[in-house]
Amino acid sequence: MTAKLHIPVLSIGDDGLNLDVRLPVAEVQPPDTDSVPLDEVRVTGCLTDLGGGEYLFRGRVRGEYAQPCDRCLEEARAALNSEVAWVYVEGRSGEAVSELESDDGDGGGAEREKLMITGREIDLSPQVWEEIVLSAPLKLVCKESCLGLCPRCGANLNGGPCGCPPAEPGGAPQNTPLSVLASLFPDLADDKNRKE
Ligand SMILES: [Zn+2]
Ligand SMILES: [Zn+2]
Repeated sequence: MTAKLHIPVLSIGDDGLNLDVRLPVAEVQPPDTDSVPLDEVRVTGCLTDLGGGEYLFRGRVRGEYAQPCDRCLEEARAALNSEVAWVYVEGRSGEAVSELESDDGDGGGAEREKLMITGREIDLSPQVWEEIVLSAPLKLVCKESCLGLCPRCGANLNGGPCGCPPAEPGGAPQNTPLSVLASLFPDLADDKNRKE
């Protein structure tokens, strides 16, 4: 965990504390978690003292996911730009990690999870990491119109036709991730066939 996202509550002034932090995602990633296709994250916003041992962080988590296009395997990118609002509350050690504040009575507010802090210090890292993971796209394509790879020769069809004859009607080969893999690793496909 990184020191840059550890904020002593005493450093939060009357006007709040403005943050603009850039850091490698590895610094907020907990051990034994799968990595995400994002190298650097930027956290901007303001921490304010709400009184009564409660603090609010309001801001944005930004970055850029980059991984191979699901169709053509060229690099594809997607922006991370999430607006966030996290409420922290000072707790005595041994208390529950979080509680739900339900707004009944004065109305108008949504339920918001309060995050317990101990040691007079707010650590934004777990929430930043959660935002990165929850916003990560399952699949990325370099562009919606990406034509992918030719299932026969493996050529990138975005660069123009590869010269293979058109697929037969009916049994048209699909450019699925499996067919792309098979075209990249023909030896593996042969191996599998031999075993069956
Ligand atoms: Zn593509
Ligand atoms: Zn081809």
